[in-house]
Amino acid sequence: MKYIPYGRHKIDNMDIREVVKVLRSDWITQGQKVNEFENRLAEYCGAKYAVVVSSGTAALHIAALAAGIKPGNEVITSPITFVASANCVLYCGGNPVFVDVERDTANIDIEKIENSITHRTKAIIPIHFAGHPCDLEKIKKIANNYKLIVIEDAAHALGARYKDYKIGSCRYSDMTIFSFHPVKAITTGEGGAILTNSKKLYERFILLRNHGITKEPKKFINPNGLFYNTDLWYYEMQSLGFNYRITDIQATLGISQLRKLDKFIYRRREIAVIYSRLFRDNPYFDIPLEKEYAYSAYHLYPIRLKKGYKDKRQKIFLTIRSKGLGIQIHYIPVYLQPYYKMLGFKKGICPNAEDFYNSEISINIYPGLKDFQIRRIAKIILNACRVSVKQ
Ligand SMILES: *Cc1c(COP(=O)(O)O)cnc(C)c1O
Repeated sequence: MKYIPYGRHKIDNMDIREVVKVLRSDWITQGQKVNEFENRLAEYCGAKYAVVVSSGTAALHIAALAAGIKPGNEVITSPITFVASANCVLYCGGNPVFVDVERDTANIDIEKIENSITHRTKAIIPIHFAGHPCDLEKIKKIANNYKLIVIEDAAHALGARYKDYKIGSCRYSDMTIFSFHPVKAITTGEGGAILTNSKKLYERFILLRNHGITKEPKKFINPNGLFYNTDLWYYEMQSLGFNYRITDIQATLGISQLRKLDKFIYRRREIAVIYSRLFRDNPYFDIPLEKEYAYSAYHLYPIRLKKGYKDKRQKIFLTIRSKGLGIQIHYIPVYLQPYYKMLGFKKGICPNAEDFYNSEISINIYPGLKDFQIRRIAKIILNACRVSVKQ
């Protein structure tokens, strides 16, 4: 059987034609396609502004900078995520504070947030793990009480909804970031975005994405009279920014992919329904659920081995892998990484997260999977669990 990865992009001839068109045009970067992608993304999510950048990590970095995170600040996040969610705090000299997760969704346990707030806390970065939204209204309420900024790490959740709002609308947050890495809902190869409803934040993102440089005379700090209208070569670097731009080649792919996003999510959800039916009442593992406020994007389909099977996880994992299924584990709790241990983080600070890590397997889910493959995958997984008890 052909190797099946846990996640995969879906690129069709339309995508390819669009990209080739840009390659033949005058602008392969810094043209109009970036703007167009931003407008469509903002419109899709229902936010005022979108800024697209070179990766989800770049988006997190400039989001953290725009939030004003500085040395000495603490930022609350959770450990069942990709390292970038917390690294962006370190980039700014701040300290990530890990709050434990809920046992079922592996999203941040909102009940435990307040205990971790101090006078140094500046922001909260909730992660919509596996595409299942956090209960944002509750997080926002806490943030308002303590005047904290909320940055949603929605790398898994483009196309998801929280209550009546698309993730990315920033209805209950200050900013939302997305990633367009090929395993995510839509892809630009590498790429990311930040959305916001704040004009001020939007202008910070634009500046930070491009070396801190502005070419708009209205925004010049030096007296206008000197340069306005005549010195057309003039630009100003006003803060220490980066080159986090994305190319028009990538933005074009993004525009074309965005047209198919709803179809992709629909198929992911269909696959989740099939799995849930095939796995119903199985004795080996729990399957992902959807809370009443959530419409999940099913970026992942995380199963959690039950007691009696957890300690066989490695064996089960290897058996499934040996059948050609590229299953994965999401995630090693961030603070258990050697770099974080070096910073002083200790095992045991988030018991639910560690338990989740020890029982989780992310099985294959992506829009290109066929029904017959899904049935075969389910069979392989149930079989691997069954034989694990026998030896
Ligand atoms: C993928 C991912 C990122 C980083 O995105 P890149 O585009 O790969 O830089 C950040 N956070 C989470 C939760 C992710 O899954």
